[in-house]
Amino acid sequence: MTASAQRRPTRQVVLAHPSRPVAVGGGAPVSVQSMTITKTADHEATLEQIYALAGAGADIVRCTCNDEAAAEGLARIVPRSPVPIVADIHFQHRLALAALEAGVSCLRLNPGNIRKPEHIKTVAAAARDRGVPIRIGVNAGSLDPDIEARLGVTPEALVASAERELAHFADVGFDDVKISVKASDVRLMVEAYRMLAETVDHPLHLGVTEAGPPPGGLIKATAGIATLLLEGIGDTIRYSLTADPVEEARAGRQLLEALGLRERTGVDLIACPSCGRAEIDVIKVAAEAMAAFSERELPVQVAVMGCVVNGPGEARSADLGIAAGRRRGHLFIRGQVVRVVPEDEMVDALVEEAEKLVADGVEARLAAADAGAAAEAEADRAALLADQGDDANASEARVELIRSRTGAG
Ligand code: SF4
Repeated sequence: MTASAQRRPTRQVVLAHPSRPVAVGGGAPVSVQSMTITKTADHEATLEQIYALAGAGADIVRCTCNDEAAAEGLARIVPRSPVPIVADIHFQHRLALAALEAGVSCLRLNPGNIRKPEHIKTVAAAARDRGVPIRIGVNAGSLDPDIEARLGVTPEALVASAERELAHFADVGFDDVKISVKASDVRLMVEAYRMLAETVDHPLHLGVTEAGPPPGGLIKATAGIATLLLEGIGDTIRYSLTADPVEEARAGRQLLEALGLRERTGVDLIACPSCGRAEIDVIKVAAEAMAAFSERELPVQVAVMGCVVNGPGEARSADLGIAAGRRRGHLFIRGQVVRVVPEDEMVDALVEEAEKLVADGVEARLAAADAGAAAEAEADRAALLADQGDDANASEARVELIRSRTGAG
């Protein structure tokens, strides 16, 4: 069963957009979010970043609305944005009202720093009247002080904060809500979302806040988000990385594709880790292939393998791959070698074949295999085995050496 088949049922909210409205929850595909790091008042720079984020896989983009100039920037950004825009609001409820005037598709409110019930209700009533959803964005680092004094920084406190905000919204008949309970501590975040999922039926926005720079930040965010998604919890996700936000959007998209929650749009590049048998610099060739494929939308799995001895067999589940041997590249489809090319043409051949594979299909490309390619590959494989033997990594020789030194065996 796929992760998507086990998703937690939720109500649905919709972020309006003239051409790309995004539904969150209620069976909609899990969406990817990111946040701009430009000054929102600089609407041209912000739009440029929004386009880059949308191109990298973001379905929804959030922009800070931290002053009047930012709200005015939003009024210029929203009509030209390729995706729905969420206004991020802290402390000043009047900026939430200004963002609604600007036409945003959603608000994010932090219940830890907009605390006066009358302010919260004024914003919720205005959002209700316009049909604009709100994300209740609870953050472990900025909890309402009285909740923190009572419950500490715990899953219970994060959930209680969200529930208090929901109660204020209910007072004005507003319930068009998604919720996040983020923490930078992965275990706290996971527990809080699990508890929240048992408590409400609203769609949930997942994130590990302040995860930090990659690779540590990517690992922390993935640990938290993937754990929950695989339990069926989570309807929209954001990686909070200290990096170019394009990396956040890309990571979010790649995670959903890896978990089978979104259809693949780009190449899934796999590569062997290399070892003593490698006939090429696998890291360099894989990076070259990644760069070449990043420009193209080819939904196939492609393998870069360091040797023809094991490469085609180990990567036989890949749609396409290339394995090196005796200064040649052995291009294979589903494990079958179809062409042998000079080593310096490996990446070009891989890209060319991937395009043909997507256009013509596997059967047609297998039928178009070069006569004799499989036999050539087998000859190269046999020659390498004869040169290197079965122990190209010299493990057995090392074991013998250890045994002779320790007197074992
Ligand atoms: S045996 Fe070949 S394919 Fe496997 S890790 Fe080593 S070089 Fe790569």
